[in-house]
Amino acid sequence: MITVTGANKHYGNFAALDNVTLDIPSGSLTALLGPSGSGKSTLLRSIAGLETLDSGIVTIAGRDVTHISPQKRDIGFVFQHYAAFKHMSVRDNVAFGLKIRKRPKPEIAKRVDELLGIVGLDGFQHRYPAQLSGGQRQRMALARALAVDPQVLLLDEPFGALDAKVRTDLRTWLRRLHEEVHVTTVLVTHDQEEALDVADRIAVLNKGRIEQVGTPEDLYDRPENDFVMSFLGPVA
Ligand code: ATP
Ligand code: MG
Repeated sequence: MITVTGANKHYGNFAALDNVTLDIPSGSLTALLGPSGSGKSTLLRSIAGLETLDSGIVTIAGRDVTHISPQKRDIGFVFQHYAAFKHMSVRDNVAFGLKIRKRPKPEIAKRVDELLGIVGLDGFQHRYPAQLSGGQRQRMALARALAVDPQVLLLDEPFGALDAKVRTDLRTWLRRLHEEVHVTTVLVTHDQEEALDVADRIAVLNKGRIEQVGTPEDLYDRPENDFVMSFLGPVA
């Protein structure tokens, strides 16, 4: 569904992405896991088109999008610090993408209700973002990103700013959402436990390179090198 082939990205002499090749299967929930500075966000932003590669090719659903703008890539994006429209209700935030696409009102209403139900925010339609908890706000962000039925959902540490209990709850929401909506999802995280818990595939990054790609079981039980072993191994 998403392929990245031979991706290179330098900042001066520094290689943020060093010949990265990765295949993300349709319908999967793939985690990009690695320590701070390993290139996770750079890779995700390159898939989104928010970063221009020095070389390499990105395809989404068989289409070469390497030189296509983010707006035309058919993706939904959620960041760590989500910028909601503060002056708009939850309902209007989620409906925003559908309104600018001029979808019929009854269709918008139905879709928004459905998504708010999936993320557990029915009854919150008329609140404003400032009246939501951090976890509720990120669930609203997920609903908003999914409203326009993107082919791909890209999440960059969406739960990073939240406390441990809320993070764990949000993992459950993300899994449930993924089971109901089946959108190909890429989740950036530096949290081993989060990746092992929520993803069906994990790509481990280190210094701009991919060390190993596999299921959580593959990586945990059969690490291919010392880096993967020490990064994913049992916490002492
Ligand atoms: P974190 O977990 O801290 O978010 P990350 O794995 O997402 O880290 P990236 O943001 O992809 O890491 O950055 C990879 C490397 O590229 C880092 O060393 C970073 O300092 C460098 N980098 C990223 N953006 C720029 C930039 N605009 N200019 C210079 N260096 C950059
Ligand atoms: Mg990052």
